Amino acid sequence: MRLFIWIFLATLSFSFTADESEPSMTKRHHKKDGFKNNYPIDDHGFSSIIKWQFSTMGKKGKVLSFPVEKNNPEWIRNNTSEPVVTWINHSTFLIQIDGVNILTDPIFSDRCSPVQWAGPKRTTPVGLALDSLPKIDFVIISHDHYDHLDTGSIEQIESIQKDNPPVWFVPLKVKERLVDWGVKNVVEMDWWDSDSHSGFEIHCVPAQHFSGRSLSDRNSTLWAGWVLIKDNKRFFFAGDTGYSPDFKEIGKRLGPFDVSFIPIGAYNPRWFMRGVHVDPYEAIKIHKDVQSKFSIGMHWGTFSLADEDMDEPPRALKDGLQKEGIDESRFVVMKNGQMMHLKSYLSEPSLDLGN
Ligand code: ZN
Ligand code: ZN
Repeated sequence: MRLFIWIFLATLSFSFTADESEPSMTKRHHKKDGFKNNYPIDDHGFSSIIKWQFSTMGKKGKVLSFPVEKNNPEWIRNNTSEPVVTWINHSTFLIQIDGVNILTDPIFSDRCSPVQWAGPKRTTPVGLALDSLPKIDFVIISHDHYDHLDTGSIEQIESIQKDNPPVWFVPLKVKERLVDWGVKNVVEMDWWDSDSHSGFEIHCVPAQHFSGRSLSDRNSTLWAGWVLIKDNKRFFFAGDTGYSPDFKEIGKRLGPFDVSFIPIGAYNPRWFMRGVHVDPYEAIKIHKDVQSKFSIGMHWGTFSLADEDMDEPPRALKDGLQKEGIDESRFVVMKNGQMMHLKSYLSEPSLDLGN
């Protein structure tokens, strides 16, 4: 069992060596056999994992379970008009806009791991059962880590919707994995590519992260965030990310945003996590950089993936918002299962923060 925990941890090691780009590569995030960030980050290999694990032994943050809010799956299934977002858990949201149902990074399994008998185990139940989902029109996937690309969930969604399967939008090189699992409709995109589906413009945008599901495939697939636009209403899903100048660029090119989904958890120890996971204070910087009117924190409260107390992200978020003088109602956390009606946010005029 310990071996699988180490394999999972190994997928958390990341390294960005000197520029390995081939001269023919025109995109700066492409390199031979894989990808790299737009802005180089600290090099953390397997030895850093060992250092992290031994240096914090016995000093891990509190592992906690959070209350789940009861919702009405039947109402959700029949909702064809109300703009509503339901937090299912971790980075999984059901976004319902004008009768279009969108799912983000679906994970419904008990563990985010290559196997279901070892690896990080959920501490809080899912907020909406997989078999209670409405018909999903499309899914956006940020990258191939186990807590964002969950084989069991993907296979079940495809099987439940086999007569009318959703379209899966994934970053470059992730398609192959889904096709292996029997997924029928996959659209693979590079940063700044765009497509359209169900009345939405869909843009793949940069994030600062890394990828891999084993010891041998580090950064061989791309990681990304997503922008969804319909009738000039703009949604931003940041994926899994560290803080970088990419967000000002996203805000400039595709913002301002009406609703954003921004990670706030799995950030300690900072020396190890800084490059790839924002803390809540940096999440607020992203909220400002992309010019978000309303943001929802994600990537916390479901799995214990790092060293902070599991209830620290919302407290730090609140503290950061107070320090920045931003109204707390503009960047919130939800409970698993909680539904949020977006009508009032979508009817407000868009922000222009002049960043
Ligand atoms: Zn990740
Ligand atoms: Zn993650």
